[in-house]
Amino acid sequence: MKVNVAPIKKVLGPKVSFEFVTTAKEFADSEFIWADGDIKVIGEAVNTGRELELSGTILVAAALKCDRCLEEYTASIEIPFAERYREDDTKEPLEQAGLSYYQGDEIHIDQVVLENIIMAEPLKRLCKEECRGLCPYCGINLNHAVCACNHQEVDPRLAVLQQLLKKQ
Ligand SMILES: [Zn+2]
Ligand SMILES: [Zn+2]
Repeated sequence: MKVNVAPIKKVLGPKVSFEFVTTAKEFADSEFIWADGDIKVIGEAVNTGRELELSGTILVAAALKCDRCLEEYTASIEIPFAERYREDDTKEPLEQAGLSYYQGDEIHIDQVVLENIIMAEPLKRLCKEECRGLCPYCGINLNHAVCACNHQEVDPRLAVLQQLLKKQ
């Protein structure tokens, strides 16, 4: 993913828009990336004077497993990103977050896109907010069916424990 910034390198104000479409498979080693579907990056670059600022949205699709019902679902996640780039003429290392160097007329954004995707990995995975999960007694998926078990008397923390024990 290379953004051609030649038109704005010497001009403040006007924006250059960019768009890239790829797949997680093509983009990165599956070890490093939780997403496994299409990846789309749309954004704009602008010259702010000291730096070029690139910002936009990374759209990621992934097949994830629901924490509650353990079924797979497809998630579409929008990750906003912004990075500033300074032309590399000094070679001094930059220690500032959100600031990178570029050389020439193109900015390679793969590294920034990958970092943003990694940081956006969903910690809580739910097929839907109101997912009913599995019955702690019979294991039936309560989104699709009802069972005869009594769900009222169970402390939810104990229910989790029972589910864990059942899996072993
Ligand atoms: Zn679920
Ligand atoms: Zn049940």
